[in-house]
Amino acid sequence: MRIEQPTDEALKEAAAAIRAGRLIGMPTETVYGVAADATNPEAVLATFEAKGRPAENPLIVHVASIEDARRLVSGFPAYALTLAEMYWPGPMTLVLPKGPQVPPETTAGLETVAVRVPDHPVALRLIAASGRPISAPSANRFMGLSPTSAEDIEPSVGDRLHMVLDGGRCRVGIESTVVDCTGDRPLVLRPGMAAIATEAAAPSDRRSPGMYPRHYSPRSPLRIVESLGARDAGITLKVPQNPLQIRLPSEPVAYASELYATLHLLDRCKPPEILVEAPPTSQDWAAIWDRLRKAQGS
Ligand code: AMP
Ligand code: MG
Repeated sequence: MRIEQPTDEALKEAAAAIRAGRLIGMPTETVYGVAADATNPEAVLATFEAKGRPAENPLIVHVASIEDARRLVSGFPAYALTLAEMYWPGPMTLVLPKGPQVPPETTAGLETVAVRVPDHPVALRLIAASGRPISAPSANRFMGLSPTSAEDIEPSVGDRLHMVLDGGRCRVGIESTVVDCTGDRPLVLRPGMAAIATEAAAPSDRRSPGMYPRHYSPRSPLRIVESLGARDAGITLKVPQNPLQIRLPSEPVAYASELYATLHLLDRCKPPEILVEAPPTSQDWAAIWDRLRKAQGS
């Protein structure tokens, strides 16, 4: 795996690689992604293969502006435009009716496409330099933990990438909020740190393929508990009792930002189990609860 600083030269090479249908490790403010030309079916198929991701799981397409997003969709309801204006660039993905430029491989055959403008200078430079909309699912094997630094990309994925652009630690640290904008009002399909006051999708509602009960998981089994015992390995909100206990901030934005990096760190120590102390249950922790439950597999 080749990790490069995002110099003009590296960006130029990465952009040419994207145009040639290759894969690039791309930082965003949420997590690192496997970047590819979202309009190139072969590049998209290579993305699925690099991740071991089932083809029925659609990709998020990253663009530089609302104008660029418009070119990929066949409709943009007024409320979705308001969301885009409020949250872009940022961790807010909008699912919209797809336009003919987006191949079915990218959307897993759906008539809708998920788009967002990432809030990361390196991602925006790569999109601009390549002149392509960029699909970028997280740079981990399917079901695994998303990387939030270049070093946390597993070699099994990293070795399939032409290069990884090092953009430092991801600021947000968990995946974007996904909002279905195909109906007469928005519906949250996946909670994220960009929280909007709408209903979450009920199980029978408009559904999102690629939402699995188990996801975002470390290798060691993860379990949510009330509090850690003296010998347990895991994440605490209190004073750690041994070196395999890591204290995370008791404020959700800072907690989310450090969560995956901490799980990667603990996972490398191969504990029999990673225990996570239950965080508060207030609404501002909802996205964190979603990821912890999925990491636990429940
Ligand atoms: P990620 O795995 O972080 O790349 O996020 C991709 C997820 O966004 C998928 O697993 C789906 O759950 C959701 N998604 C992407 N495209 C669509 C779409 N067209 N319709 C509904 N959900 C989508
Ligand atoms: Mg992922």
